[in-house]
Amino acid sequence: MDLDDFTWGINRLQKFYNKKLKQDQEDEYYQRIKSIPQEIFVRAIDDIIDTNKFFPTPGDFKTYWYQWQVTNPQQMEREKTYCSDCHGEGILYFNIKPKGATFQRDYEYICRCGSCENWKGDVGKWIPKFTVRELGYKGFSPIPLITWDDSKEQDRDIKSQVPF
Ligand SMILES: [Zn+2]
Repeated sequence: MDLDDFTWGINRLQKFYNKKLKQDQEDEYYQRIKSIPQEIFVRAIDDIIDTNKFFPTPGDFKTYWYQWQVTNPQQMEREKTYCSDCHGEGILYFNIKPKGATFQRDYEYICRCGSCENWKGDVGKWIPKFTVRELGYKGFSPIPLITWDDSKEQDRDIKSQVPF
């Protein structure tokens, strides 16, 4: 969730539980739970208001999120958001043309899409993360997914570890 979503939610809770967090506390709270998707955060607030006697801890939200993932494994796979950079795949493929080279090298690299979190659950955090724009700044050209041919995947020499 982003900070706006969080602020909306935490204000709702503060109102309902008649509690006021200090700015420092609110910042820390956000850091603890910001990886929870906005949709889950909103559902959790409804549930918490329905059932919790006291103002929830960040741990209450994490437990809610964890339980939701365990009870909705299929939905987890479909939790991809729209992303114009990677078309929701969460991965970008791109060519690297070494400095001074006059030809395009024959293999592709992959990185995590820096514009969304659709890579979660598919690829590890050890794979570098860039947006299409950042790749452009570095002089790399992302390969549009539309030209990606899955049947040729075996033949391609895909480097998962980018040399920078
Ligand atoms: Zn993306």
